[in-house]
Amino acid sequence: MRMISVHEALTQILETVSPLAGERISLFEATGRVLAEEVQSVRKVPPFTNSAMDGYAVRHDDIQSAQADQPVALSVLEVIQAGAVPTKTVEAKTASKIMTGAVLPPGADTVIKVEDTQEQPGQVFIHKAGPKGNNVRASGEDIQPGQTILKSGRVLRPADIGLLASVGRSFVLVHQHPRVAILSTGDELAEVDMPLQPGQIVNSNAYTLAAAVREAGGQPVPLAIARDSLEETRAALEEAVRHDVVLSTGGVSVGDFDFVKAAMDDIGIERLFWRVAQKPGKPLTFGLLRGRPYFGLPGNPVSALVCFYLYTWAALRRMGGYRRLFFPTVQVTLGEDISKAQGLTEFVRCQLTRNGPGYVAHSTGTQSSGVLSSLSLGESLVIGPPEMALLRKGTTATAIVLDREEFMPAELPF
Ligand code: AMP
Ligand code: MG
Repeated sequence: MRMISVHEALTQILETVSPLAGERISLFEATGRVLAEEVQSVRKVPPFTNSAMDGYAVRHDDIQSAQADQPVALSVLEVIQAGAVPTKTVEAKTASKIMTGAVLPPGADTVIKVEDTQEQPGQVFIHKAGPKGNNVRASGEDIQPGQTILKSGRVLRPADIGLLASVGRSFVLVHQHPRVAILSTGDELAEVDMPLQPGQIVNSNAYTLAAAVREAGGQPVPLAIARDSLEETRAALEEAVRHDVVLSTGGVSVGDFDFVKAAMDDIGIERLFWRVAQKPGKPLTFGLLRGRPYFGLPGNPVSALVCFYLYTWAALRRMGGYRRLFFPTVQVTLGEDISKAQGLTEFVRCQLTRNGPGYVAHSTGTQSSGVLSSLSLGESLVIGPPEMALLRKGTTATAIVLDREEFMPAELPF
């Protein structure tokens, strides 16, 4: 099979996936999920005209001459608490004491805040008039019935959740999270809590990928380790393809015990490509079974995770309904010469440090695809174009930013 470019690989993958159907979930669970409906309000918000201040509800005509040295006296009808309903109409030369959020009484058009008044038994002196309508929040001033408050595709944030609650929606339709089977292949793999026998290593990829699936908005389903035989790999794949997406690791290279491609062919997974002109992760393969994507990730821990970030991430995001599929990128200045493989797009694990308005990138050291600590140390992947053999110190490059945490200041912002 022809080795394809990173751009072709990502394009082909994205052409095959589309957003999953919707599910109804509680508003409490909905932050960060993608709305799969357009939401129209059936109510007015606020539902009634109310006071924005603790003060006195008045008729502006009565108090427009009020000044500190010439206050206007009004007799007080009642005290209206938030949650209560006024019982009196404000007529000429009267006022009702009113609390923030309480219903404005009929007859009143303005609220004078308590700081601009002086209270006496049974009456109040108004010291300052202000404009008509001051401190009054009109019914429906935020949202009108029939108004679209959120469009389909919206990634729900806390303010959106509050809007939905304010119009009475306790459940919303959001795109389902893709269920992602994680299949680890390899005779050398042991479970994390078992003592390691000679020749064994921990199945760390299952954990790495489960964590990454969650970050991408998917639900990870780790499966049992499959040993390196065609039969066992095939049986494990048959189990795996019942999920929305399958990720396997290992067994896609050219070793004598790499059975994943043969097992894919056996169960009828259509292979769209095998091998991408990139480093790390050249042996990546991708296929489809009944429209479901299958990612055959390489076994090396760095290759597996980098391939996930570059390809699976965007596919899972699209399936989850997100429209922005990719990690943010920044332009960086290279802090040192970095040699790379000519002919391949190389993703160099780098640490970014702030330098004035920009960033300087330093390689995290060895770029061996087995050394996972090099990816743990660096929060970014600097993209080395295929035609280059050396990325020169002081030149600029594009860096994929994998981790927002590193970009959050630890110092007080104000
Ligand atoms: P493979 O692609 O199966 O030849 O594996 C490539 C390298 O990745 C080998 O050194 C494997 O031991 C290692 N490897 C494969 N699968 C895993 C895994 N699930 N967790 C950690 N390392 C793995
Ligand atoms: Mg293997």
